[in-house]
Amino acid sequence: MKIAIGSIQCEGNSLTPIYTKFEDFDYAPGEAMYEKIKVVDFFRENGCEIIPTIYAHALPGGAVIKEDFLRLANELVDAIPANDIDGVWLYLHGAMYVEEIGSGDTYLLKLLRDKIGYDIPVCVAMDFHANNTDEIAGLANCITGFRTAPHCDHTETQLRAAKHLLTCIKENILPKPQMARANVVICGDAVQTALEPLKSIMEEAERLEEETEDILCVQVFNGQSWVDEPYMGPSFVVTHKNDTELAKKYAEALALKFYKARHDFKFLIEALEPTEAIKTAISATEQVFISDSGDNTTAGAAGDNAYMINRIKESGAKNVLIAGIADSPACDACYAANIGDTLTLNIGGSLDKNSETTQITGKLIHKGDILSYTGANAGPSATLDCVDMTVVITKNRAAMCRPDIFESISLDFSKYKIVVVKLGYLFPELAKAAKRAILAFTPGGSTEHLKDMNMKNIRRPMFPLDDNFINV
Ligand SMILES: [Zn+2]
Repeated sequence: MKIAIGSIQCEGNSLTPIYTKFEDFDYAPGEAMYEKIKVVDFFRENGCEIIPTIYAHALPGGAVIKEDFLRLANELVDAIPANDIDGVWLYLHGAMYVEEIGSGDTYLLKLLRDKIGYDIPVCVAMDFHANNTDEIAGLANCITGFRTAPHCDHTETQLRAAKHLLTCIKENILPKPQMARANVVICGDAVQTALEPLKSIMEEAERLEEETEDILCVQVFNGQSWVDEPYMGPSFVVTHKNDTELAKKYAEALALKFYKARHDFKFLIEALEPTEAIKTAISATEQVFISDSGDNTTAGAAGDNAYMINRIKESGAKNVLIAGIADSPACDACYAANIGDTLTLNIGGSLDKNSETTQITGKLIHKGDILSYTGANAGPSATLDCVDMTVVITKNRAAMCRPDIFESISLDFSKYKIVVVKLGYLFPELAKAAKRAILAFTPGGSTEHLKDMNMKNIRRPMFPLDDNFINV
């Protein structure tokens, strides 16, 4: 069996003015992609010949520049032979947002089908936050996705798509996934799979998948909320080997279950207005992580807002770590100075004109490259000791979402009373290390309040902007 494999991933946010460019992707063409994905051994053990294409993965951001996306998409599809191939395995995000195109994932699959036709099975692994278009289910033979949020089943998901692909090839079937939607937008941070009401919905999907004969996959997707497109939001994709009616019925039942549970989604960590979050952290006896959730780089926001630095200054809080803020000119100024120098810098608003700015004065205590979200190099960073607060400034957008990223710039976060991160919920590795976490409802490209997003193109009616639009 000859299997082509490929992966392009970037979670898109259409509300931020920043763009994602080719250089932002951790890019591994050809066999270099083997170490980035988890299915190579599986396919080899099953006697498959692997045809590599490309792997490209970027930190969530704004729209991918069209030309750069087309370069990646064409490179992936060009590497796949039109004939003499038995199947295609893809690992996509599902919420890639491309300038002038919209869903990059849908565009990529169309490009692939234009080349290989519809007689070769294509199975796709996606992120739980995929925003599936109406067309996408007709372009793949199975769509599966992460079943954990925060995500910790990347390997299982990739392997599941690989397993379903081999089933399609061996049984000579071309399943047609069926999709249903719930018009309910719950921002990612209130949607965690281990907790209710989502826990029961995930269990129901799992039960349907396990107990129904000839079903390949029952998948729940929450969608990525910060995308102003009609296809934004939760979708339920069911793949049966041959019974599309049953698959549709299951997908619709899950969508209805999600709609019925809409009032039960709550922020599952402490969630407060910014000044309250800081006040609570100051009076806490333990260390507190505060998420600057409106400027969450892992949800695609710019990561350049000095809003929380200003609120921290006003509060008089001491022993605070700001981890971190993206500001290329300020980072350059630090690189032009020597360790131990005292610098006064204007920071903030270098990427998004709506972001607040501020001035800080501090001693330069560290310069060096910082590890990226994907494990690659995110470029230069500088750390300034400003007496009551220590500030990490990065040249590029970064996400300090795991302890090894702090370690990469010799930073011990355990020494600080308050750690401010540009995240939503804490990633599992950081959550383990954090004694207490508070999500602050800060403004920005990843605000948690749907009414503040000023959406113009999403489907309506849509909860929570509208309610009680289905009789149940
Ligand atoms: Zn996700």
